[in-house]
This record gives sequence, C-alpha cells and structure tokens, in this order.
Amino acid sequence: MEVDWEKLIPKPRSRFLLVQCNECGHKQIVFDHAKIEVKCQVCSAPLAMPKGGKARILGRVLEVLT
Ligand SMILES: [Zn+2]
Repeated sequence: MEVDWEKLIPKPRSRFLLVQCNECGHKQIVFDHAKIEVKCQVCSAPLAMPKGGKARILGRVLEVLT
C-alpha cells in the first residue's frame, strides 16, 4: 500500500486566517496558502489571491488560527 505522505505530514507554515471582507464585513476562514482566488461568500469580493505559495490576503485579517 502506498502512503500519501503529503497528507500525513503537517505543514507548519500553513495556517488558517479569519478574514473580514472589506466590502460587506462578512467574516470567513481563509487558508493562507490558497491556490485559487478566495471570494467572499456574501458579496463575492476577493479575499485572497494566490501568490507563489502563500496567498495575498486582500481583506482584513482578524485572527490567525493555528
Ligand atoms: Zn463581502
């Protein structure tokens, strides 16, 4: 059986952020290494843009969840 080490080994640099939308104030959890653009679930404003590994957060970071 082949083991998927990617899933088993935690990546310490990866975090989840609580980001507030600049447009509507909606709070949403965003993965800070998002590979695709993350949009606000309420108004579709971009909250994070992928940028060479780590995502660029466009909203306001309220909290870092570890
Ligand atoms: Zn919004």
